[in-house]
Amino acid sequence: MAPPLELTASFRSTAQPRRVPFAFVAERLWLDFVNTDAGARGADALHDFSRFTDWLQAAQVLDAERASSMRRRSLQQPAGALAVLGDARRVRTVLRALAEIGDAAHARLDALNEINRVLGRSAGTRRLELRDDGSFAREFVSVGDAFAGLLIPIVESAADALILGERHRVRRCADPRCGRVFQDETKNGRRRWCDMSTCGNRAKAARHRMKLHA
Ligand SMILES: [Zn+2]
Repeated sequence: MAPPLELTASFRSTAQPRRVPFAFVAERLWLDFVNTDAGARGADALHDFSRFTDWLQAAQVLDAERASSMRRRSLQQPAGALAVLGDARRVRTVLRALAEIGDAAHARLDALNEINRVLGRSAGTRRLELRDDGSFAREFVSVGDAFAGLLIPIVESAADALILGERHRVRRCADPRCGRVFQDETKNGRRRWCDMSTCGNRAKAARHRMKLHA
């Protein structure tokens, strides 16, 4: 069960969640989004709307200008911001199931329905943007409800995974306490850890200790 929504936290100076830098280790946007359900790894990126916007910016879904316009808008329309946060959590739950048990027909169907629900509700236009660093990015500019478009790039990334049949490359980190998922892009398909500097390193240290005590 997800904890209750706390939009109000973004408007208070106290009770801020611990700010840890976001990790992008999954090779796919939709999987990085799944990994925002913190667990033992720190604060939930969907803890409040402002943090969600921070994550979207860190994921390069929003540029700085659009991110700050979203933050302003969330203060003017708190109910709308709260609704999209609830929506984001719902999408995330369904996408985690797709990542972990995507061979099960119900997980795929749930994902399909959820993706289409988000896509069907959002009116807007697509643009190709040239970023400051010279790279190109696809952008979705929504008309009407600006919040509605926020989840589009995430569900499109999941849609691409289904279309391309990538699910069999999705793994869960070999550390059972971790829970992160990622796309294994290695040639031999043997990536085990979400991140070598954290989980991979801990496993290496544990093997070393075992050797010493053997
Ligand atoms: Zn891990």
